[in-house]
Amino acid sequence: MLTRADIGVIGGSGFYSLLDDAEEIQLSTPYGPPSDVVTVGRIGSRSVAFIPRHGRDHRFPPHRIPYRANLWALRSLGVRQVLAPSAVGSLRAEHGPGAIVVPDQLVDRTSGRAQTYYDAGGAVHVSFSDPYCPSGRAVAVEAARSGGWETVDGGTLVVIEGPRFSTRAESRWFASNGWTIVGMTGFPESILARELALCYTSLSLVTDHDAGVEAGEGVTHEEVLKFFAQNVARMRTLVADTVEALPTERTCSCGSALDGLKLPFELP
Ligand SMILES: [Zn+2]
Repeated sequence: MLTRADIGVIGGSGFYSLLDDAEEIQLSTPYGPPSDVVTVGRIGSRSVAFIPRHGRDHRFPPHRIPYRANLWALRSLGVRQVLAPSAVGSLRAEHGPGAIVVPDQLVDRTSGRAQTYYDAGGAVHVSFSDPYCPSGRAVAVEAARSGGWETVDGGTLVVIEGPRFSTRAESRWFASNGWTIVGMTGFPESILARELALCYTSLSLVTDHDAGVEAGEGVTHEEVLKFFAQNVARMRTLVADTVEALPTERTCSCGSALDGLKLPFELP
């Protein structure tokens, strides 16, 4: 394969126009096709592969996204660092719509999703105590601050199964645990990245307050999409700034995530 990329972006459909000299590539993986054709192009001096997480026509709800195929496809193109912009609800009154949270912890409340590549051929236990890349996080926080965003450095993302939103009781429970934001796609995307020894950084845009935090009618999908659409141009700039500032050589430990483990197959 001739087309290569260093950095992967898994994001919403507003991100295509990020890329110069874009080329579309149809990829297949042992886990089926990714969410859509992969677009490979450049941002400044960096080569970037982009996958629309839900497909271009938003046909995959969060629990049906082919997460394993998406990460596998990126790695097979040479990608070693992944940025994951997404929309989230805030569990904190002080962080409202328009804040960018770069989480450093995660709680998995999903169920029934394929969450490992190592299903057969021996157990592979990967460390996940710190689920996000420290280098990528630092770069993302700096890029968000420089871009004038209200930026939250750290915090816990709780990933729910969806596609429904939280009840008020669930939302209050999440908040009372000290968790920061709630989303539907941050897992298993993050663990699958780790299982392929990729760097993974979440750029979470708060689109609303979660049900237990606000007194109103609760979140609607329409509100989330509207807010995201209003902010997509700024998010594109933030993703581009982050991509350009990512290290060209990795010094974090993400690339060593599989050292000493016996893998049942070779990574792409
Ligand atoms: Zn890393």
